[in-house]
Amino acid sequence: MAVLETLTPPKEGQRIEIRDNHLQVPDHPIVPFIEGDGTGPDIWRASQRIFDAAVKGAYGGKKRLVWFEVYAGEKAHSTYGNWLPEDTLRAFQHYVVGIKGPLTTPIGGGFRSLNVSLRQLLDLYACVRPVRWFEGVPSPVKHPEWVDVVIFRENSEDIYVGLEHPSGSPEAKKLIEFVRREFNWKVRDDAGVGLKPMSAFGTKRLVRKALRYAVDRHRKSVTIVHKGNIMKYTEGAFAKWGYELAREEFGGQTVTWDEVQKSYGGKAPAGKVLIQDYIADVTFQHLLTRPRDLDVIATGNLNGDYISDAVAAQVGGIGMAPGANLSDFHAIFEATHGTAPKYANLDKVNPGSLTLSGVMMLEYLGWNEAASLIVRGLEKTFKQKVVTYDLARLMDGAKEVKTSEFASAVIDNMG
Ligand code: NAP
Repeated sequence: MAVLETLTPPKEGQRIEIRDNHLQVPDHPIVPFIEGDGTGPDIWRASQRIFDAAVKGAYGGKKRLVWFEVYAGEKAHSTYGNWLPEDTLRAFQHYVVGIKGPLTTPIGGGFRSLNVSLRQLLDLYACVRPVRWFEGVPSPVKHPEWVDVVIFRENSEDIYVGLEHPSGSPEAKKLIEFVRREFNWKVRDDAGVGLKPMSAFGTKRLVRKALRYAVDRHRKSVTIVHKGNIMKYTEGAFAKWGYELAREEFGGQTVTWDEVQKSYGGKAPAGKVLIQDYIADVTFQHLLTRPRDLDVIATGNLNGDYISDAVAAQVGGIGMAPGANLSDFHAIFEATHGTAPKYANLDKVNPGSLTLSGVMMLEYLGWNEAASLIVRGLEKTFKQKVVTYDLARLMDGAKEVKTSEFASAVIDNMG
């Protein structure tokens, strides 16, 4: 590792390594974390206690997470005068797997976004969001228990790459002139213009990750979600390349919807993952009306952004949705909500998003027993209607507790 200039790594513990195309996880892995701004410290303290209790409960003293605090956001700014010190990036790169709370996005220019910097440095091309319902959690739909999806959103391409020029700028004018001259495209003089790149490389590595996940975890299906009926050579190509990848690399483990209809009487054979595709707009309807038809979703950057938030709302919303940004091996797990600054230091908000992100992290490390303990603890706690303010205000007969009390209840309920 490039030398850390301002941070001292823990003396104990070892680094997670990438060897022979596999993650090598020691029994005492060093895990960098950022507690986050605003309510970050509250939810971090609660979640960290839950993680440590689960690992202890699952493995006695044999395995342990060795936490290494690194800094970004307000804490970094007040300590180092820098919103994002180089050491933080180096630590995440070196230790391979890390976790973070929410960070303030400072208003005005002159700073780098941690998420963008990490995404670029570590090539975190897949944003993964599992969304499931926990019994007892209030939901706006009749059957939230039907929702159990994992969204793999491509993170490095599509219109989010920022290749755009404002209306009236010399660059926009030049681009408009070029496409009119070369392609006979009709674009208004005063249009803002942008590029929507979607490549075979970018699509295939995302779909590969989604399919690997589905096969390893015996999920039912992978649905490629796209808007290819309108944007044929970007969104449509995404679907085409997705099927290609499934055929080339997962031929023996997958079956297409067409094959199921023609050869299997409409039902996918046991042990095979169904691969199908849906148009993005219809997907929103299906997620609401028959979410059981959707399982793992592989989709582009923009579609994935919308779908992730929409489906999270169906199972209880913002305090509960976990997330991860992944490359082939590097992984950063994170709360998906913001810093909710008005509640900072009140020991009030729901730690669920960060806690469930930790569950994803434990599963990523292969520590499934510890992950299951946390899920069990959460399930039981929600069933008892022991919840933080956000859920208590939507539930009849709830017992409203503080963030720290919620964590204690989850730990007690791990059983
Ligand atoms: P926010 O922090 O997500 O908060 C919006 C509302 O969501 C809160 O007022 C609260 O609702 C609810 N909420 C958020 N976290 C919750 C939790 N843990 N438990 C229960 N309810 C929770 O969004 P924001 O106010 O727009 O953004 C605040 C700051 O966060 C900004 O600086 C923004 O840039 C930053 N941000 C960071 C990230 C990130 O680092 N990943 C993501 C998004 C935003 P009620 O008011 O109804 O109680």
